[in-house]
Amino acid sequence: MSYKINEIFYSLQGEGHFVGTPMVFIRFSGCNLKCSYCDTSHETFELMDRETILDTVSQYPAKRVVFTGGEPTLQLDDLLLRLFTEQGYKLHIETNGTSQLTPRYLDWVTVSPKENWVLKKGDELKVIYSGQSLDKYTDGTQFKYYYLQPQSGSNIAETVAKVKADPMWKLSLQMHKLIGID
Ligand code: SF4
Repeated sequence: MSYKINEIFYSLQGEGHFVGTPMVFIRFSGCNLKCSYCDTSHETFELMDRETILDTVSQYPAKRVVFTGGEPTLQLDDLLLRLFTEQGYKLHIETNGTSQLTPRYLDWVTVSPKENWVLKKGDELKVIYSGQSLDKYTDGTQFKYYYLQPQSGSNIAETVAKVKADPMWKLSLQMHKLIGID
């Protein structure tokens, strides 16, 4: 079994609750959506089996992995998750929320909701804010944390004002872009 891996790299989490935390990012290639504002180049890939992915990740000192994309739920499976869990890793996922997830083996679920999202519970909901109504993100959803992130960093003042007006939300900035790291 091989997975289409766009890149594996070591960095700091730049967004949301774990901002500043060293993690190994496993970026899967491919997504089921084509958001107009997508800033991730995930199309190219290398086929890697589970052991090769683990070997690559284990070069780095952090024992915390984030599965991202593209859309990781299109490929991520229990066999890969279990392999990392058995090696003592904490496992995060960043998903667009268009698939239901079994949180088995996952320690942290971040949903960045896009069109037709169905995954309404998890650890953090991270909404790209462009002035839209936020009711659909809070009605009937269950997350520990709700984050608003300015779209492409261009409407920071508007996003700050919204968070101050509705304090169930917190501001998330793309810290990695602000400090110029991957
Ligand atoms: S869901 Fe995420 S990765 Fe997929 S197209 Fe939209 S922004 Fe890009």
